[in-house]
Amino acid sequence: MKILETKSLKKHYGKKTNIVKAIDGVNISIEEGEFVAIVGTSGSGKSTLLHMIGGLDRPTDGEVIIDGKNIFEMDDNKLAIFRRRKIGFIFQSYNLVPVLNVWENITLPIGLDEKKVDKDYVKNIMDMLGIYDKRDSLPSELSGGQQQRTAIARALATKPSIILADEPTGNLDSKTEQEVMSLIKLSVKNYHQTIIMITHNEKIAQMADRVIRIEDGQVKENGGLKDEHYIK
Ligand code: ADP
Ligand code: ADP
Repeated sequence: MKILETKSLKKHYGKKTNIVKAIDGVNISIEEGEFVAIVGTSGSGKSTLLHMIGGLDRPTDGEVIIDGKNIFEMDDNKLAIFRRRKIGFIFQSYNLVPVLNVWENITLPIGLDEKKVDKDYVKNIMDMLGIYDKRDSLPSELSGGQQQRTAIARALATKPSIILADEPTGNLDSKTEQEVMSLIKLSVKNYHQTIIMITHNEKIAQMADRVIRIEDGQVKENGGLKDEHYIK
């Protein structure tokens, strides 16, 4: 079943004389449960695309449709609630709240939604990520890798149907990276989650069901080795 679709999606910055077409007519369609890697050189438009897919940034033109709903028809408040319910973000800037400890940071999105915190589930994720013993620490007391794993735990804790990730393991050594990727894949499988991940890492791209290559704001490749409809 299709979970997400973009239609003629565009994001242009600047004035007519000096226009940057960061995303310029992107049409992609993503199935529930797919793991999609987004690749492309720096400045090709990957982050801009991911932000619009997640409703963090409004397009200049075009649509993002999630579960059949054009998300940009919602006002900012409705969109924020929709994001919190549906989407887990794992970004490079971890956006941890400095005055809250690790446990509070991870359970914050659940608390906001007034759903009951599944403490065993959260503990389990934290255990697997090796940060449960850091639950009382503040973000400033953690290493970069521990902060990254806290942000990953926070994104998984709400069991979102879509996970959007921008180089989620960029700060981890390769052993930890493999462990974190395995955990993400396990979560995705158990909860039928869809994952869309920007990566420069060949090994991670190879784990994906499909690779979408962005160049100059447009889709230049959309497929994978496992995909019979691979186009290049
Ligand atoms: P990537 O994630 O692939 O590195 P980005 O989506 O960050 O690429 O950027 C795509 C293009 O859009 C770049 O040329 C970048 O400079 C430009 N861009 C991104 N954000 C802004 C902004 N807020 N204002 C102006 N230009 C921007
Ligand atoms: P970059 O990829 O360029 O390092 P990020 O993708 O981490 O930047 O963040 C881009 C923007 O998205 C920032 O303004 C940040 O505050 C916002 N952002 C990141 N995560 C969330 C979230 N979970 N909810 C709302 N906004 C977020």
